Amino acid sequence: MELWYTEKQTPNVGITCKVNKTCHREKTPYQDLAVIDTEQFGRMLVLDGVVQTSVADEFVYHEMITHVPLFTHPNPKKALVVGGGDGGSIREILKHPTIEKAVLVEIDQAVVEASKKYLPEISVGLSDSKVEVNIADGIEYVKQHKNEFDLIVVDSTDPVGPAVGLFSLDFYKSIFEALKEDGIFVAQTESPFYEKELIKKVYNDVKSIFPITRLYLCSIPTYPSGLWTFTLGSKKYDPVEVDVEKIPELDTKYYSGRIHKAAFALPKFVEDIIK
Ligand code: SAM
Repeated sequence: MELWYTEKQTPNVGITCKVNKTCHREKTPYQDLAVIDTEQFGRMLVLDGVVQTSVADEFVYHEMITHVPLFTHPNPKKALVVGGGDGGSIREILKHPTIEKAVLVEIDQAVVEASKKYLPEISVGLSDSKVEVNIADGIEYVKQHKNEFDLIVVDSTDPVGPAVGLFSLDFYKSIFEALKEDGIFVAQTESPFYEKELIKKVYNDVKSIFPITRLYLCSIPTYPSGLWTFTLGSKKYDPVEVDVEKIPELDTKYYSGRIHKAAFALPKFVEDIIK
Protein backbone atom coordinates (compact mmCIF):
# COMPACT_ATOMS: atom_id res chain seq x y z
CA MET A 1 0.00 0.00 0.00
CA GLU A 2 1.27 3.48 -0.83
CA LEU A 3 0.79 6.45 1.53
CA TRP A 4 0.39 9.95 0.09
CA TYR A 5 0.22 13.34 1.82
CA THR A 6 -1.85 16.11 0.25
CA GLU A 7 -1.83 19.76 1.23
CA LYS A 8 -4.75 21.69 -0.21
CA GLN A 9 -2.87 24.88 -0.99
CA THR A 10 -6.05 26.63 -2.19
CA PRO A 11 -9.63 25.28 -2.37
CA ASN A 12 -8.81 24.16 -5.92
CA VAL A 13 -5.10 23.24 -5.96
CA GLY A 14 -2.92 20.93 -3.90
CA ILE A 15 0.50 19.33 -3.64
CA THR A 16 0.71 15.55 -3.16
CA CYS A 17 3.83 13.68 -2.03
CA LYS A 18 4.52 10.00 -1.51
CA VAL A 19 5.19 9.36 2.19
CA ASN A 20 7.74 6.86 3.49
CA LYS A 21 6.71 7.31 7.10
CA THR A 22 5.30 9.68 9.68
CA CYS A 23 8.16 10.51 12.06
CA HIS A 24 6.18 12.55 14.57
CA ARG A 25 2.69 13.91 15.18
CA GLU A 26 1.34 15.98 18.06
CA LYS A 27 -1.29 18.57 18.92
CA THR A 28 0.57 21.47 20.48
CA PRO A 29 -1.22 24.34 22.29
CA TYR A 30 -0.93 26.29 19.03
CA GLN A 31 -1.14 23.88 16.12
CA ASP A 32 -1.18 20.37 14.71
CA LEU A 33 2.49 19.48 14.21
CA ALA A 34 3.78 16.68 11.99
CA VAL A 35 7.15 15.64 10.64
CA ILE A 36 6.77 13.32 7.66
CA ASP A 37 9.43 11.60 5.58
CA THR A 38 8.60 11.97 1.88
CA GLU A 39 10.16 10.21 -1.10
CA GLN A 40 10.75 13.40 -3.13
CA PHE A 41 11.55 16.09 -0.56
CA GLY A 42 12.88 14.13 2.42
CA ARG A 43 11.63 15.11 5.87
CA MET A 44 9.02 17.85 6.00
CA LEU A 45 7.72 19.96 8.86
CA VAL A 46 3.96 20.34 8.51
CA LEU A 47 1.90 22.70 10.71
CA ASP A 48 -1.90 22.60 10.55
CA GLY A 49 -1.61 20.66 7.29
CA VAL A 50 0.67 23.27 5.66
CA VAL A 51 4.25 22.46 4.59
CA GLN A 52 6.65 24.77 6.45
CA THR A 53 9.92 23.44 5.21
CA SER A 54 11.46 20.37 3.62
CA VAL A 55 15.02 19.09 3.76
CA ALA A 56 15.24 19.16 -0.06
CA ASP A 57 14.27 22.77 -0.74
CA GLU A 58 14.57 24.64 2.60
CA PHE A 59 17.87 26.19 1.52
CA VAL A 60 16.14 28.45 -1.00
CA TYR A 61 13.83 30.08 1.53
CA HIS A 62 16.32 30.31 4.39
CA GLU A 63 19.14 31.70 2.26
CA MET A 64 16.90 34.26 0.56
CA ILE A 65 15.17 35.54 3.70
CA THR A 66 18.53 36.15 5.42
CA HIS A 67 21.41 36.81 3.00
CA VAL A 68 19.59 39.45 0.94
CA PRO A 69 19.17 41.79 3.96
CA LEU A 70 22.47 40.73 5.58
CA PHE A 71 24.49 41.60 2.48
CA THR A 72 22.54 44.86 2.18
CA HIS A 73 23.64 45.94 5.67
CA PRO A 74 27.38 46.83 5.87
CA ASN A 75 27.92 45.60 9.43
CA PRO A 76 25.06 43.48 10.86
CA LYS A 77 25.80 42.48 14.43
CA LYS A 78 22.51 41.63 16.08
CA ALA A 79 19.63 39.81 14.38
CA LEU A 80 16.16 38.76 15.49
CA VAL A 81 14.10 35.99 13.89
CA VAL A 82 10.37 36.02 14.68
CA GLY A 83 8.85 32.54 14.15
CA GLY A 84 11.34 30.30 12.35
CA GLY A 85 11.43 27.65 15.10
CA ASP A 86 12.91 25.13 12.65
CA GLY A 87 16.18 27.09 12.94
CA GLY A 88 16.94 27.42 9.21
CA SER A 89 17.10 31.23 9.25
CA ILE A 90 19.33 31.19 12.33
CA ARG A 91 21.69 28.71 10.64
CA GLU A 92 22.11 31.09 7.66
CA ILE A 93 22.50 34.22 9.84
CA LEU A 94 25.39 32.55 11.67
CA LYS A 95 27.30 32.27 8.38
CA HIS A 96 27.97 36.03 8.61
CA PRO A 97 31.16 36.69 10.60
CA THR A 98 29.97 40.14 11.80
CA ILE A 99 27.03 38.58 13.67
CA GLU A 100 27.57 38.69 17.42
CA LYS A 101 24.10 37.64 18.52
CA ALA A 102 21.10 35.97 16.86
CA VAL A 103 17.83 35.87 18.80
CA LEU A 104 14.91 33.58 17.96
CA VAL A 105 11.42 34.26 19.27
CA GLU A 106 9.13 31.34 18.47
CA ILE A 107 5.69 30.96 20.03
CA ASP A 108 5.60 27.15 19.97
CA GLN A 109 8.28 25.25 21.89
CA ALA A 110 7.16 22.01 20.23
CA VAL A 111 8.34 23.30 16.83
CA VAL A 112 11.84 23.91 18.22
CA GLU A 113 11.94 20.50 19.95
CA ALA A 114 10.65 18.55 16.93
CA SER A 115 13.06 20.37 14.60
CA LYS A 116 16.02 19.62 16.86
CA LYS A 117 15.07 15.94 16.95
CA TYR A 118 13.92 15.27 13.39
CA LEU A 119 15.46 18.05 11.27
CA PRO A 120 19.03 18.34 12.62
CA GLU A 121 20.44 19.68 9.34
CA ILE A 122 18.03 22.65 9.54
CA SER A 123 18.06 23.27 13.31
CA VAL A 124 21.84 22.88 13.69
CA GLY A 125 22.44 26.55 14.60
CA LEU A 126 19.98 26.65 17.51
CA SER A 127 22.55 25.38 20.01
CA ASP A 128 25.28 27.84 18.93
CA SER A 129 26.64 30.05 21.71
CA LYS A 130 25.71 33.23 19.78
CA VAL A 131 22.04 32.15 19.70
CA GLU A 132 19.34 32.95 22.25
CA VAL A 133 16.06 31.06 21.92
CA ASN A 134 12.93 32.62 23.46
CA ILE A 135 9.61 30.82 23.56
CA ALA A 136 7.19 33.73 23.38
CA ASP A 137 4.77 35.64 21.18
CA GLY A 138 6.88 37.59 18.67
CA ILE A 139 4.42 40.49 18.71
CA GLU A 140 4.88 41.08 22.44
CA TYR A 141 8.63 40.48 22.25
CA VAL A 142 9.17 43.05 19.50
CA LYS A 143 7.05 45.63 21.38
CA GLN A 144 9.37 45.33 24.39
CA HIS A 145 12.60 45.98 22.48
CA LYS A 146 13.66 49.37 21.12
CA ASN A 147 16.58 50.43 18.93
CA GLU A 148 18.28 47.07 19.36
CA PHE A 149 18.54 45.03 16.14
CA ASP A 150 20.35 45.48 12.82
CA LEU A 151 18.07 42.92 11.20
CA ILE A 152 14.61 41.54 11.97
CA VAL A 153 13.41 38.53 9.96
CA VAL A 154 9.74 37.59 10.15
CA ASP A 155 9.84 33.87 9.33
CA SER A 156 6.18 33.18 10.02
CA THR A 157 3.46 30.73 9.19
CA ASP A 158 0.66 31.87 6.88
CA PRO A 159 -1.52 34.68 8.28
CA VAL A 160 -3.83 32.47 10.34
CA GLY A 161 -4.00 31.77 14.10
CA PRO A 162 -1.12 33.28 16.14
CA ALA A 163 0.56 34.57 12.96
CA VAL A 164 -2.29 36.95 11.97
CA GLY A 165 -0.75 39.83 13.95
CA LEU A 166 2.62 39.26 12.25
CA PHE A 167 1.10 40.72 9.07
CA SER A 168 -0.33 43.90 10.66
CA LEU A 169 0.59 47.57 10.35
CA ASP A 170 1.00 47.89 14.14
CA PHE A 171 3.51 45.05 14.17
CA TYR A 172 5.56 46.70 11.40
CA LYS A 173 5.56 49.92 13.45
CA SER A 174 6.93 48.00 16.46
CA ILE A 175 9.55 46.42 14.20
CA PHE A 176 10.63 49.86 13.00
CA GLU A 177 11.17 50.90 16.62
CA ALA A 178 13.00 47.69 17.56
CA LEU A 179 15.50 48.27 14.74
CA LYS A 180 18.58 50.48 15.08
CA GLU A 181 18.70 53.70 13.05
CA ASP A 182 20.01 51.86 9.96
CA GLY A 183 18.20 48.54 10.52
CA ILE A 184 16.53 46.29 7.95
CA PHE A 185 13.40 44.16 8.19
CA VAL A 186 12.27 41.33 5.93
CA ALA A 187 9.18 39.13 5.97
CA GLN A 188 8.02 36.16 3.95
CA THR A 189 4.92 37.36 2.08
CA GLU A 190 3.45 34.36 0.26
CA SER A 191 2.73 33.56 -3.40
CA PRO A 192 2.15 36.32 -5.98
CA PHE A 193 -0.19 33.96 -7.86
CA TYR A 194 -2.49 33.31 -4.90
CA GLU A 195 -2.02 36.15 -2.39
CA LYS A 196 -2.09 39.39 -4.40
CA GLU A 197 -4.17 41.34 -1.89
CA LEU A 198 -1.98 40.30 1.05
CA ILE A 199 1.21 41.26 -0.80
CA LYS A 200 -0.26 44.63 -1.79
CA LYS A 201 -1.38 45.35 1.77
CA VAL A 202 1.95 44.36 3.38
CA TYR A 203 3.93 46.30 0.77
CA ASN A 204 1.85 49.45 1.30
CA ASP A 205 1.95 49.11 5.09
CA VAL A 206 5.75 48.72 5.07
CA LYS A 207 6.08 51.59 2.60
CA SER A 208 4.08 53.84 4.91
CA ILE A 209 6.71 53.29 7.66
CA PHE A 210 10.12 52.61 6.06
CA PRO A 211 11.97 55.00 3.71
CA ILE A 212 12.94 52.06 1.45
CA THR A 213 10.57 49.19 0.57
CA ARG A 214 11.38 46.37 -1.89
CA LEU A 215 9.76 43.13 -2.99
CA TYR A 216 11.85 40.20 -4.19
CA LEU A 217 11.28 36.67 -5.39
CA CYS A 218 12.59 33.14 -5.30
CA SER A 219 11.44 29.72 -6.43
CA ILE A 220 10.42 27.09 -3.85
CA PRO A 221 8.85 23.85 -5.14
CA THR A 222 6.95 22.86 -1.96
CA TYR A 223 5.28 26.25 -1.46
CA PRO A 224 2.00 27.19 -3.15
CA SER A 225 2.59 28.00 -6.85
CA GLY A 226 6.37 27.54 -6.41
CA LEU A 227 7.00 31.30 -6.67
CA TRP A 228 7.51 33.14 -3.37
CA THR A 229 7.80 36.78 -2.29
CA PHE A 230 9.66 38.56 0.46
CA THR A 231 8.97 42.16 1.48
CA LEU A 232 11.90 44.18 2.80
CA GLY A 233 11.77 47.49 4.66
CA SER A 234 14.98 49.41 5.26
CA LYS A 235 15.80 52.62 7.14
CA LYS A 236 18.95 53.45 5.20
CA TYR A 237 20.43 50.81 2.89
CA ASP A 238 18.78 49.90 -0.41
CA PRO A 239 19.20 46.23 -1.41
CA VAL A 240 19.11 47.13 -5.11
CA GLU A 241 22.05 49.55 -4.67
CA VAL A 242 24.34 46.81 -3.32
CA ASP A 243 27.50 46.31 -5.39
CA VAL A 244 26.90 42.62 -5.96
CA GLU A 245 30.39 42.14 -7.42
CA LYS A 246 31.70 42.69 -3.88
CA ILE A 247 29.51 40.02 -2.24
CA PRO A 248 31.90 37.30 -1.06
CA GLU A 249 31.35 33.64 -1.88
CA LEU A 250 29.43 32.03 0.95
CA ASP A 251 28.53 28.42 1.67
CA THR A 252 25.14 28.63 -0.11
CA LYS A 253 23.21 26.64 -2.71
CA TYR A 254 20.82 29.31 -4.05
CA TYR A 255 21.99 32.76 -2.98
CA SER A 256 24.85 34.53 -4.77
CA GLY A 257 25.59 38.10 -5.81
CA ARG A 258 23.98 37.40 -9.19
CA ILE A 259 20.83 36.05 -7.51
CA HIS A 260 20.77 39.04 -5.12
CA LYS A 261 20.46 41.35 -8.13
CA ALA A 262 18.14 39.13 -10.15
CA ALA A 263 15.68 38.57 -7.30
CA PHE A 264 14.49 42.19 -7.55
CA ALA A 265 13.63 41.90 -11.26
CA LEU A 266 9.89 41.38 -10.98
CA PRO A 267 7.61 39.88 -13.63
CA LYS A 268 5.10 42.47 -14.86
CA PHE A 269 2.15 40.87 -13.09
CA VAL A 270 4.08 41.15 -9.80
CA GLU A 271 5.04 44.76 -10.51
CA ASP A 272 1.34 45.43 -11.03
CA ILE A 273 0.52 44.09 -7.55
CA ILE A 274 2.63 46.76 -5.85
CA LYS A 275 2.07 49.64 -8.28
N1 SAM B 1 9.27 28.85 6.31
C1 SAM B 1 7.96 28.79 6.77
C2 SAM B 1 6.88 29.12 5.79
O1 SAM B 1 6.93 30.14 5.09
O2 SAM B 1 5.96 28.31 5.69
C3 SAM B 1 7.78 29.32 8.11
C4 SAM B 1 8.38 28.35 9.06
S1 SAM B 1 8.41 28.64 10.76
C5 SAM B 1 8.23 26.99 11.28
C6 SAM B 1 6.96 29.52 11.22
C7 SAM B 1 6.80 29.58 12.73
O3 SAM B 1 6.15 30.78 13.11
C8 SAM B 1 5.98 28.44 13.33
O4 SAM B 1 6.82 27.55 14.03
C9 SAM B 1 4.99 29.16 14.28
O5 SAM B 1 4.83 28.49 15.51
C10 SAM B 1 5.65 30.52 14.42
N2 SAM B 1 4.73 31.60 14.82
C11 SAM B 1 3.47 31.83 14.41
N3 SAM B 1 2.96 32.91 15.03
C12 SAM B 1 3.93 33.38 15.86
C13 SAM B 1 4.03 34.48 16.77
N4 SAM B 1 2.99 35.31 16.96
N5 SAM B 1 5.19 34.66 17.44
C14 SAM B 1 6.23 33.82 17.27
N6 SAM B 1 6.19 32.77 16.43
C15 SAM B 1 5.08 32.56 15.72
